[in-house]
Amino acid sequence: MRIPLIAGNWKMNLGIAEGVVLSQNICNNFDKSWLDRVDVLVCPPAIGLRPCLTVFEFERLKVQVGAQNVHWQPQGAYTGELSCDMLASAGCTAVIVGHSERRNLFGETNEQVNLKLRAVLAQGMTPIACVGESLAVREGHDPVEYVCAQVDAALAGIDEAEAARCVIAYEPVWAIGTGRTATPEQAQQMCAAIRALVADRFGSDVAEQVRVLYGGSVNVGNIDALIVQPDIDGALVGGASLEASSFLALIKAC
Ligand code: PGA
Repeated sequence: MRIPLIAGNWKMNLGIAEGVVLSQNICNNFDKSWLDRVDVLVCPPAIGLRPCLTVFEFERLKVQVGAQNVHWQPQGAYTGELSCDMLASAGCTAVIVGHSERRNLFGETNEQVNLKLRAVLAQGMTPIACVGESLAVREGHDPVEYVCAQVDAALAGIDEAEAARCVIAYEPVWAIGTGRTATPEQAQQMCAAIRALVADRFGSDVAEQVRVLYGGSVNVGNIDALIVQPDIDGALVGGASLEASSFLALIKAC
């Protein structure tokens, strides 16, 4: 049985002080028994990783912290970048790779997403590989084919054991930060297609283990209908992860 994952992507929001306050508010209202049934991850901006993790450690709450991006090179002349080793040294256990904002605003390619995913795996961390189609692709092309090609590219060159450790987040670009969610049926259809692709490439055992998340305007009002879908194993959450009350409600819903 796959354990659902609720991952909060804070994006470029909340400085160190605000992030610590949010982490503390999450702890204050957290029912530890939830962690028997759901994994919880928060992804603050890089400067907030260590301070936020310190709050969770102090409270003995097994909430994990993850990064929003990484460079695949181990070190060197890459001004402004962070390596996997650096993120791991901050206590990071997961890294988001290929978020649509990085693909669209910073020109990240499928090849770069694959390099990052492999570097994250090699470090022993969990990659959360984001895929998703634009509105133009949804309306004019075959979104399943488009998204499966992104998944295929992201997972290129890894073995079965590595594939089983990956998390894939289906995030339709038209649903991110728009308040417009994919219907549970649309989300389920795509997540099932992603799992079928993983089964085809890595075998059904791996496909049964891989967690496929949905992301895009997930909130307290739509989580219930999404989480009951057989191929949706949790959510990658932007806006609703920035307040303790809504983030906690999503965790509780799982
Ligand atoms: P949103 O963002 O929940 O604010 O739509 C999701 C994401 O970008 O991961």
